[in-house]
Amino acid sequence: MARTTRRWLLLVPFAFVLVPFPWSRGPVALSRSSGTAQQQPTAPKYDLLLRGGHVIDARNNISAVRDVAIANGKIAAVDAKLNPSDALKTVDVTGLYVTPGLVDIHAHTYTGTGERASYAGDNSVPPDGFTFRVGVTTVADAGCAGWRNFEDFKQRIIDRSKTRILAFINIVGNGMRGGTYEQDLNDMEAKPTADMAKRFPGLIIGVKTAHYNGPEWAPVERAVEAGTIANIPVMVDFGANKPERPVAELVTKKLRPGDIYTHVYSGLRGELDPSGHVNPGLIEGRKRGVIFDVGHGGGSFLWRIAVPAIKEGFLPDSISTDLHIGSMNTGMKDMLNVMDKFLAMGLSLDDVVAKSTWNPAREIKQDGLGHLSIGAIADVAVLRLEKGRFGLTDMYGARMDATERLMCELTVKDGKVVYDLNGVSRPDWQTLPAGYGPIGDGRWDGLNPARVTTPGTQRGRGGAPQAATPIRR
Ligand SMILES: [Zn+2]
Repeated sequence: MARTTRRWLLLVPFAFVLVPFPWSRGPVALSRSSGTAQQQPTAPKYDLLLRGGHVIDARNNISAVRDVAIANGKIAAVDAKLNPSDALKTVDVTGLYVTPGLVDIHAHTYTGTGERASYAGDNSVPPDGFTFRVGVTTVADAGCAGWRNFEDFKQRIIDRSKTRILAFINIVGNGMRGGTYEQDLNDMEAKPTADMAKRFPGLIIGVKTAHYNGPEWAPVERAVEAGTIANIPVMVDFGANKPERPVAELVTKKLRPGDIYTHVYSGLRGELDPSGHVNPGLIEGRKRGVIFDVGHGGGSFLWRIAVPAIKEGFLPDSISTDLHIGSMNTGMKDMLNVMDKFLAMGLSLDDVVAKSTWNPAREIKQDGLGHLSIGAIADVAVLRLEKGRFGLTDMYGARMDATERLMCELTVKDGKVVYDLNGVSRPDWQTLPAGYGPIGDGRWDGLNPARVTTPGTQRGRGGAPQAATPIRR
């Protein structure tokens, strides 16, 4: 590799000398174009600088105008003023909100198996089509795969997606494949589920139990057993409402502190008591440390449940979509739409962002995500809060009018721009040379990079910067 690079360097001056450019004047051209590696300018300190945006970072208690600098895929600096001359690329994000990349802990992404009417198949969505465009950089798949098919899910989707995909493993060995599978108590085994989770720490971040229609507690108990062995939280979709297993008992006795009750505003399992007030069991469960997550989905969010609950102060710990083919075009549009709903119910933008970044990251024990601390993974969303007349619908199609809506302008994952709605990171085409090609730099551009740098050019890897090898990709 080093030899190839040196040979390339030697060839460069000759290439320039031998080409008869009209402005070439022999020796002069040689001296101007034959610069050695040592004469090249030092690489800038930052790859990307987001300048002038309002940063919301719950972990670091920041809600203020700040510049955010990124280098080598990590947050390098957050300050009131950073110098653009220190950055390879500066993007002016004045008037926009700069948040950690959104973390959606309830999505269904195990698509592509060809199985009909299955969340390990056609009901799931390809994540990259639904994430970056709304500022989401991390999703947790909510139990589409169990221990029998997790590895297929991993090689088919997780390993091939640009979105960071983590997973709750289903307590059902076959995962979320539909009725007969999900009602089969014999396929709900704690040990193999926990064993698979322990094989993929940091990737399998929880255990899911869902959709169970029977009166038994066994699915919850076995999920908790697996979660205890693997030291990860359990997420519960409590399935059909059964008097034998009331929700109050679930959250006050069966779940551990840190376990997650999703679909909290569905109203389908007695989240409000018959008088219309929040079930006291939920309040008690929260005191014990049980987590309450939105999981909007196609059938799990009602204004007539959420509005009274929020008025009584029963706010969600985390905001999530329950993204799948049955939710994405109905009441639940996308992550920002669900966040808009909580803005419309009176939560502050700071709070809504916290519940969509740092809170969910902590719930799944991924404290390296969901914040903009120095050294953290540089996943960033740049959002615009639009004012106007908007409508937000719930699972039955009831509308709430709204005056605000979040739009995603720019998404950065691992320090690179992966979505740019209005081209704020891009030059005006009229300023470019005729016949221009891809012009971004691979150090900040995840979309149209014209070149990637050789390993020797990276800052902090020792030695003087060397010439970059131009590679199209
Ligand atoms: Zn779901």
